[in-house]
Amino acid sequence: MSRIASCSCGQLKLTMEGDPTEVTVCHCFECQKSTGSVFGVSAYWPKSACVSIDGQVKSWRRSSDSGRWVESYFCPICGSTMYWYAEFAPDEIGVAPGNFADPSFPAPTSAVWDSCRHPWVKLPAEWPEEAKRGGLPE
Ligand SMILES: [Zn+2]
Ligand SMILES: [Zn+2]
Repeated sequence: MSRIASCSCGQLKLTMEGDPTEVTVCHCFECQKSTGSVFGVSAYWPKSACVSIDGQVKSWRRSSDSGRWVESYFCPICGSTMYWYAEFAPDEIGVAPGNFADPSFPAPTSAVWDSCRHPWVKLPAEWPEEAKRGGLPE
């Protein structure tokens, strides 16, 4: 099964094959700033699951809150950040689930950087406590 992500203006498209291996919430301030929302959500696949990337793209490499690099790729027209590569996961590609515009997209199962979480953001009660503070370290 293929899933197609697109940016706000639609010129940048990315096709992923199959389901992500992990979907995680990140409360860190860098994710808050880059998304403009109060947390980020990342869907990770092996790089080989990325079938195509079409359109103009720009990238920006930053240091994460834990000091490792994350390189984000975004549409130079509308600014949507679509996908990224991270030092902590060298064989993976992270994609923003919102760019698939698909409410049936697999839900996150873990969260990191709880220390930056806005207190009104409540993770699902059925998640184990460690999942709310675990997952991939950024
Ligand atoms: Zn765009
Ligand atoms: Zn983050």
